[in-house]
Amino acid sequence: MSSAVQIRGKIVVITGGARGIGLATATALQALGARIAIGDIDEAAAKDSGSTRDFEFYGKLDVTDQSSFENFLDEVERTLGPIDVLINNAGIMPIGKLADEPDRVTRRILDINVYGVILGSKLGLHRMLPRGRGHIINIASLAGESHVSGLATYNASKHAVLGFTDTLREEYRGTGLHFSSVLPTLTNTELGSGLTTPVRAAEPEEIADAIAKLIAKPKAKVRVTALAGFITQTMGLLPQGLADRIGRALGADHLFLDAAEDEKRRTYEERARNA
Ligand code: NAD
Repeated sequence: MSSAVQIRGKIVVITGGARGIGLATATALQALGARIAIGDIDEAAAKDSGSTRDFEFYGKLDVTDQSSFENFLDEVERTLGPIDVLINNAGIMPIGKLADEPDRVTRRILDINVYGVILGSKLGLHRMLPRGRGHIINIASLAGESHVSGLATYNASKHAVLGFTDTLREEYRGTGLHFSSVLPTLTNTELGSGLTTPVRAAEPEEIADAIAKLIAKPKAKVRVTALAGFITQTMGLLPQGLADRIGRALGADHLFLDAAEDEKRRTYEERARNA
């Protein structure tokens, strides 16, 4: 069956859907006939993207706030009906060495990237388990299967999302629910501003396309791009010392740190650090 047939009519909630990967995903799924609800901490951006793209539901959502998240999902279900797919996408990626990272920023990365995903999954489960159907998709990163200097807390957060999502899949086996992780490489969104990697960065539309395929045919994980995913998985099979040497040769020890202070990143770093 085609993706469009599988996706048509599904009610899909996307956190952090006002821009970047979330917005590209909302747009792609809407084109395939899904009914879209986006929530974002940036209310103005959510309203702007929601009204411009004509999504059925959009508004303010803070994934780190239990009542904000619960009320948002209640409102979506009252307006559109039972949620079929919940995409926990909201995330931030400030760059810097750990000793220089203000504790407030450390906590915020973990709060949004880890607690927000855990909270969203829990609230999704409460709704989906009694129905015996539903799909929870957590946006991790290839940073969850690798390590890049300047991203210690972010790397930790994405490793956590992968372990968390794999555990849910086993814990709720046989319930009719699906749990998936998405592992994008560096992607051309505001979060990736000013950054480069040795392999080609992805476009947000490529991540959106992978998510559409995942909804049509659920599986545990999808890595995008295929090449970056292959390299990351292969590095993971090598002895640590050799993998680290190859990583350094490819710039993993300095590329992101060098770009952290770049003018092109300033607006994003300010937004992420104050999210
Ligand atoms: P982005 O900054 O373009 O968009 C993220 C959105 O999340 C923003 O609109 C922001 O306002 C929102 N957000 C932040 N805190 C929030 C909160 N507390 N509650 C609700 N919304 C909140 O970033 P993106 O590149 O689209 O990233 C989306 C996801 O993809 C993130 O989880 C990110 O870690 C992951 N990812 C991104 C890349 C990349 O290179 N862009 C690579 C791998 C994984």
